[in-house]
Amino acid sequence: MSNITFDNVKNAFAYKSDKELKQSKFLFSTMGYPLFVPIATRVTPLIMKFGLPIVNNLVRKTIFKQFVGGESLQKTEPVVKSLYKHQVKVILDYGVEGKEGDENFEEATKEFIRVIEYAATQPNIPFISIKVSSFASSKLLKALNEAPRLRSGIHDHEEQEADWEKVEDRMFSICEAAAINGIGVLVDAEESWLQDPVDRLTMEMMEEFNKEKAVVVNTIQLYRHDRLNFLKLSHKIAQSRGFILGVKLVRGAYMDKERARASQLNYPSPIQNTKQDTDADYNAAIEYCIRNIETISCVVASHNEKSNLLAASLIEEKHLPLNNNHVHFSQLYGMSDNITFNLSNAGFSVSKYLPFGPIKDVIPYLMRRAQENSSMSSQSGRELSLIKKEILRRKATAV
Ligand SMILES: Cc1cc2nc3c(=O)[nH]c(=O)nc-3n(C[C@H](O)[C@H](O)[C@H](O)COP(=O)(O)OP(=O)(O)OC[C@H]3O[C@@H](n4cnc5c(N)ncnc54)[C@H](O)[C@@H]3O)c2cc1C
Repeated sequence: MSNITFDNVKNAFAYKSDKELKQSKFLFSTMGYPLFVPIATRVTPLIMKFGLPIVNNLVRKTIFKQFVGGESLQKTEPVVKSLYKHQVKVILDYGVEGKEGDENFEEATKEFIRVIEYAATQPNIPFISIKVSSFASSKLLKALNEAPRLRSGIHDHEEQEADWEKVEDRMFSICEAAAINGIGVLVDAEESWLQDPVDRLTMEMMEEFNKEKAVVVNTIQLYRHDRLNFLKLSHKIAQSRGFILGVKLVRGAYMDKERARASQLNYPSPIQNTKQDTDADYNAAIEYCIRNIETISCVVASHNEKSNLLAASLIEEKHLPLNNNHVHFSQLYGMSDNITFNLSNAGFSVSKYLPFGPIKDVIPYLMRRAQENSSMSSQSGRELSLIKKEILRRKATAV
């Protein structure tokens, strides 16, 4: 096992002022109150619709500041610069979700291309991330996911076929801009009932753009019990067609929603039975990717210390350069700084996934972060104890 440790809080929070650290402590403590997050995640999206300035301000100064880079691309600049000082890279994520209609889809496509062009001017933004549902209607993705015949490209309705062609064009123009500008595109994984067409389209783009290096990267959610096999199948296809497979490995963000829908509609849940099963497949996926590092480029996207340690150890065991091009680490902005900054200090290639966008449009993203951090037994407990440790360390060393 690697000697790297994730306990060094001085490294972890070097980029935060005392005031910022106290604000984070307040936020994580609040999110730990048992009823706070369940109530806040229901009420906040409704209140935000009315645009009450007082609530807007409260959200901006607390959860938005912790997890989002700014309301616009330009406003992310101070965060990007401060991460650069610590050799931490950035994955820019235009975090607007849930907007339907051709006009919004075209707007999102333009914004992704603008983000790529901006990333190309910065020294530490190697990737951007995209969601296909930002430029394809969820109704269309769901229909394509459900109809096996459609998967072979034979579409039932002319209208659907025309809509799908538009989606393909949008995806192509984003990936083409990325290839021209030397920026990678990470395609986020979404709910299982939308995912099939996303996978298919992403594989097509990889075949087009990943001949020399991984420009396009798909996301594999290992909380799904079929995804380790899917990773291996994708690799086989990539090898037979002569392109580099790009994969971002995640556990998966929609577990409760997935289980609830499966039970409501009475089909077998796509989610693993236990957390241990998810962990086992996640770690097996890391091992598979690093074992096949010549033909797979992977992003270890996780806040799990054991999984990050495993990937770091495998890189060391194989005597690969720590910052090699085919294994990159990433954590969400506002979470697990102890992993990010200790990895960067040790010389690994690591980034923060940094969303940006108007407050009202990033609310779904913020609500997911609040839910993820609401259980004191898990992530927020760990975050809070590390923040407290650093506050105490700073007090003890103050002169
Ligand atoms: C850079 C980055 C990009 C991301 N991109 C995406 C994306 O595109 N799509 C997406 O869906 N998510 C994405 N995520 C979120 C990710 O899927 C996880 O929700 C989150 O990172 C928590 O998992 P973990 O590996 O950090 O660690 P852990 O805290 O060890 O794992 C928590 C996760 O384990 C799984 N789990 C928990 N309990 C159980 C159980 N009882 N049975 C089975 N499984 C269980 C769930 O997936 C849960 O989120 C991303 C995360 C990062 C860091």
